[in-house]
Amino acid sequence: MIKKYLFYLFRWQLSTPILAVVLWALRGYNDWIVTVIANLLGGLIFFWIDRIIFKVEYRNPLWEIKDNIVCVNCGKTCKGYRLVKTTNYDRLNDHSPEFRCEECSEEKMKQLNRRGVVL
Ligand SMILES: [Zn+2]
Repeated sequence: MIKKYLFYLFRWQLSTPILAVVLWALRGYNDWIVTVIANLLGGLIFFWIDRIIFKVEYRNPLWEIKDNIVCVNCGKTCKGYRLVKTTNYDRLNDHSPEFRCEECSEEKMKQLNRRGVVL
């Protein structure tokens, strides 16, 4: 966390030249408007960098567990499991999530593992 924080502080300093250049280039104009323009320009650039800095890494797989589901594979009604997110697997915004019983879920994990999904 401290490494990310220090990197963020360094990144924050990168906005200084942008602010300085815009303030210099638009000197004579209203300070508030120039500052808004500089911050807008900085936001357009650093949104993408900040997005990378604050990207959440999933070290452990995220699962959703529900009672009384119908297993999408075998049709059994039971407690259901659904893998939602790993480092390289993302079903956070799945509009039709598929739940599986424990046995079918384990089989699905084997299939995903063979396809290279990191569990
Ligand atoms: Zn099943």
